[in-house]
Amino acid sequence: MNATTRPVAVITGSSAGIGAATAHELARLGFEVVLGARRLDRIQALAGELGGRAQALDVTDAASVQAFAAQVSVAAVLVNNAGLSRGLDPVEKGSEAHWREMLETNVMGLLRVTRALLPALSRAPLAHIVNVGSVAGLEVYAGGGGYTATKHAVRAISQTLRLELVGRPIRVTEIDPGMVETEFSLVRFDGDAARAKKVYEGLKPLGGEDVADCIGWVVTRPAHVNIDQIVVKPIAQASATVAARKQS
Ligand code: NAP
Repeated sequence: MNATTRPVAVITGSSAGIGAATAHELARLGFEVVLGARRLDRIQALAGELGGRAQALDVTDAASVQAFAAQVSVAAVLVNNAGLSRGLDPVEKGSEAHWREMLETNVMGLLRVTRALLPALSRAPLAHIVNVGSVAGLEVYAGGGGYTATKHAVRAISQTLRLELVGRPIRVTEIDPGMVETEFSLVRFDGDAARAKKVYEGLKPLGGEDVADCIGWVVTRPAHVNIDQIVVKPIAQASATVAARKQS
């Protein structure tokens, strides 16, 4: 791996959706992107295209996170984006495996990656942690017991980090998107493409690039400015559960 003079931006979950779009945006803004996800072929192709680096990362695996972090000596930006939802069952019928996977990925994974990369972030003159939360961290909905709990936790962690890092040149931002059309619903519904498509029916959802645009903006503010939080939704979405849909 070649050393470059570009500031390094580490993006977890960059093999698809918001993470891949963020890789494009941060590369465009002049960062050397370091990409992590389990689907190595995808991030290798993207890193090749963007002049970045790729390494397999499973945020649920402590050894994988350690190996990933070891290749980064200085990081200006960490985007904690890796995350997923599984199922939409009420708690009464909830799957223990689904809850565990969401908690391990969205909460434990984010904590683990942050701890592993804080030394590299501390070596940068100005660093930034961007946590991708969700409107599900601000609101709840029936069937979202596991997922909304994890995104409320992301909110708590972002606020905690801001308290712990105050006085150091490390900014902390939380980006809370509403509906974004990515592989998210496909993963939630276990590959059921028809069910996933229905989530976005009759409205124009955000694309990954809309969220990436917010991330690019927060990391390029003047050094004394910390954007704490951005909530970004499609114009057709009023809340996690209320959206205006056109009949087709
Ligand atoms: P996506 O297209 O499914 O992308 C999810 C990314 O996370 C993939 O790159 C996936 O890569 C990665 N990932 C999942 N588990 C991982 C693990 N154990 N280790 C490393 N990477 C892992 O979904 P997305 O919409 O872009 O989601 C990105 C983030 O946005 C998530 O935190 C999600 O909760 C949040 N979000 C999404 C929406 C939405 O409507 N789409 C709304 C609000 C918030 P691999 O499978 O290759 O590992």
